[in-house]
Amino acid sequence: MALPPIAENLHHVKARIAQAAQRVGRDPHTITLVAVTKTHPWAYVAAALTAGQVDFGENRPEEAYAKFIENPEAVSFPVRLHLIGPIQSRKAKIAAACRPVLIHSIDRLKIARKLNQLAEEQEMIFDALLEVNVSGEPSKHGWAPESLKQELPQLLALEHLRFHGLMTIPPYDPDPEAARPYFVALRKLRDQLATEYPQHDWSQLSMGMSHDFEVAIEEGATIVRVGTAIFGPRGGY
Ligand SMILES: *Cc1c(COP(=O)(O)O)cnc(C)c1O
Repeated sequence: MALPPIAENLHHVKARIAQAAQRVGRDPHTITLVAVTKTHPWAYVAAALTAGQVDFGENRPEEAYAKFIENPEAVSFPVRLHLIGPIQSRKAKIAAACRPVLIHSIDRLKIARKLNQLAEEQEMIFDALLEVNVSGEPSKHGWAPESLKQELPQLLALEHLRFHGLMTIPPYDPDPEAARPYFVALRKLRDQLATEYPQHDWSQLSMGMSHDFEVAIEEGATIVRVGTAIFGPRGGY
């Protein structure tokens, strides 16, 4: 089966990132594009690598491990692997073994403690974000803002996790403008936490996907997670 035009799609997404940044007077170089390769085979990753992409995102730790760590074809590439999906406790070990450059999706105290413990055992520190459910949709992972505030002292005390900011997934709406209030809410929550806990890094906002990354950038996203717009539609999840 022929691959989609991945290099061309990447080029186009980057141009749109730059335009969105320029609209609001931001430097496009301060925005990280994470190419989301879940469900796609290695050939898709290889095409993006060849086109200069280095940051890749996967949802499921087992899939990430198989594709990027175990795979002999992957070893010769300097991939920066991001874990962006919910991590079940029994998958924490494999998530840690992925040595992710950033875990976007710490969504409860239990998994934070588990990953902290694994990091300690491996004498590592994991860089991570806290996932917030700003919409309150029951199907979404992440903290309600109020419960995050309550648990934050315990989270920030975990010495083998280093937090850098927040992540969110707004409710799906085909109109990207519908996501704007949620992006604004995440930024405001971040600003508030940064005032309350100035000794920690709150610089990163991971928000925006294929259909709404431009709105996210206008509202302060520093990391966008883009799959479909680069690799085409997915089968499966
Ligand atoms: C799948 C996924 C993405 C990418 O979604 P697209 O709409 O294909 O760009 C981004 N973030 C998370 C958490 C995902 O699960």
